[in-house]
Parts: sequence; structure tokens; C-alpha cells
Amino acid sequence: MTRRRPKLFTPGPVEVPEDLARAADSVIHHRSALFRRQFARVREGLKRLFRTEGEVAVLAASGTGAMEAAAANLISPGDRVLVVRSGKFGGRWAELCRTYGARVEHLDVPPGAVVDPDQLEPRVDEMNPSVVFLVHSETSTGALNDVEAVARAVGGRATLAVDVVSSLGVHAFEMDRWGVGVAVAASQKGLGLPPGLGFVAVGSGALRLVEASSSPRYYFDLRRYLAAGADNQTPFTAPVTQIGALAAALRRLGSVEESIARHTRVAEAVRAGLKALGFEILPEVPSNAVTVVRGPAGLDASKLVRVLEEEFNLRIAQGQGELQGRVLRFGHLGWISDEDVIDLFEALEGALGRCGYAFEAGCGVGTVRGRLGSLDGG
Ligand code: PMP
Repeated sequence: MTRRRPKLFTPGPVEVPEDLARAADSVIHHRSALFRRQFARVREGLKRLFRTEGEVAVLAASGTGAMEAAAANLISPGDRVLVVRSGKFGGRWAELCRTYGARVEHLDVPPGAVVDPDQLEPRVDEMNPSVVFLVHSETSTGALNDVEAVARAVGGRATLAVDVVSSLGVHAFEMDRWGVGVAVAASQKGLGLPPGLGFVAVGSGALRLVEASSSPRYYFDLRRYLAAGADNQTPFTAPVTQIGALAAALRRLGSVEESIARHTRVAEAVRAGLKALGFEILPEVPSNAVTVVRGPAGLDASKLVRVLEEEFNLRIAQGQGELQGRVLRFGHLGWISDEDVIDLFEALEGALGRCGYAFEAGCGVGTVRGRLGSLDGG
């Protein structure tokens, strides 16, 4: 079947399976009993995914909206906060914190590296921040920070706010057990839905800050979502079609463990295939959301992206922020099948050939086939 648009191997948005796209077609009234029943199931499903007994606010917003809601509700102007800047999205936390009047200090992490909890601990001691902001899976570098170790280093001395936008359902994340105060995510990543929904999970440890914040907030006032959620309601008109699709995605996903295992299997195959073709994996601890690579010497990376899109109808992503022009990003979030991975590598080998790059024909496709086959047994 010919698609009219490029197939997405980007780290969000991602391909949406047809059954989930169809599940977004029903406009029900957001004050009806029907919606309340559906929203009750959605709230339960989200709490299972975040591993929290706290409330999960569902916002009509992208991931950045969820981040902004977290910042607005955790910060009062003049508060001192510590932001781990692990890449573009760590940088976004810092920008949002400044926007809400916080006095921001940074712990900068070089591109592709992960934060060292032993460096973080003395910074928390020194500056005594009210909140520490972190990104779990830094989609710009493909690196996976160790949230559990960071939470241990923070040790309850500050509220920990974590962006799990590209790790929710992809990597183990234990909000309550690890002591994370607030976590934010979005629909267009591991859940494999269209963009448009942002999630803010609020643990009991963060409620004091949410109540006390003197930042201006209205649509993103989390107190409204927490109160309405307890009654299976949303404070404003709910994005009902998207919530319908979310209900279907949570059913399709099965257990968190199954979702993580699916993502891990595909990510391992993609990493192995790219290495076989001569790409170098950038991050020291790679996320299963996206594989960020440096191209082999002599390869024109932007030409490869263009050829893949124009001749093979397939879209991968380029670098962002300080990595712009220096890396390629292969997204593998959502509902990627073995056939999708093999399609990707067939196209990639074709496009590499068009770009004049010499490699052993079939070694990428052969490697991913082998990995997917052997991973089945394991
Ligand atoms: N954080 C991370 C880790 C992300 O990957 C993204 C989206 N790429 C965002 C935040 C921002 O989300 P959005 O683009 O949906 O606003």
C-alpha cells in the first residue's frame, strides 16, 4: 500500500495505529456519565503507568504545556531551583523556571552524558533548592538519566520534578517508590497517540508546593485538575476525542512491563543495526525511545534525511539545539512492529547507497533480522 505521507521514525510524533486513530472519532459530552466512566478508567490506567497513588492531570496541551503546568505550580517567584541541563529539554525546564521568576542554578551535562548523582548531591546541599528539575529520557541526545539514583541523591531535601515525556511506558519509572514529586508526559510518544494531550502526575509530596505557589495560573492551575479529577471530571471542556483514544491506547498497551519489553526489544535491534552500518551511538546510557547517532565519516547526514523522505517516504529526525547538524535521531516509540524495523533498514540501506556511502550490502537488514529473531527466544 502506498502511503501519501512519510512513515515516521521520529521521536514524536509517532505512527498511530489505525484502531487508535479510529478511537478518537467519538464526541461525547464531557459532563455525561459516559465520560465520567471513561475518565475513571483513564485515570486508573495513567496512575498504573506513572506508578503513583497521586492524581494525574490530563491537559489539552503538548508536553511543553505539561512542563509549564509543573513549573507554574511548583514555583513561587524568587524560589531557588536546580535544573539538570542534559540537553534541549533540560534547557526547556530552565527557561520555564526563569519565566516563572525562579532563581535558577544549572547542573550542566555534556551532550550524550548522564547526570552524576554524586555531583548533584553536594549542589543540593549547597543551594538548598525547593525543586530539582530533571529529564529522564533526554530526547535530544538519546541519553537516559538514572531517576532513582537522582532521587536518592536529592534525598527528600527538595521536590523532584521529572520529565518522563519520552520514557513513560518505555523505561521503568516508579514515581511513588522513588519519591518523585511531579512527573510530566505527553500522548505522542510511548503511548503511540497523536500529539495533543499532556499529563502531569502529582504525588502527595508535591501538594504543599502546589497549594503554596504564588505564580499566576488559571488554565494550568493544577488545583482545579486535582479537585475535578477526584470526581472523574476535568475542570474545563475535556479533549474528549483524544481521551477516547487514550482509553483505547491504555487497553492496547497491557501492562507497563509489556510496554517496556516491547520498546526495549525494538531499541536493541535498531542500535545493533545502526552499529553494523557504521554509525556511532552518541549517548553513554542509551534510551529505548530514540537512538541518536553520529554518521560514519564522509556521510552527508542532511542528504540522507532528505533522500529517505523524498525517495523512500520515511522520516527520521536530525539533531536539535547544540547537536543540530551533528547527529541523526531514529525514533522507536509506540507500536513499531518487526516489519517496520526491517522496512526502516531496507530504506536506510537504499538511501545510504544513493548518498554514495560504501558498506556491506544487507548487513543492516541482516543484523536487525537476526536480533529480532534471537530476541524472540530470549
Ligand atoms: N520533553 C521531552 C523529553 C521531549 O521529548 C519533548 C518533545 N520532543 C518535550 C519535552 C516537549 O514536548 P512537546 O513537543 O510535546 O511540547
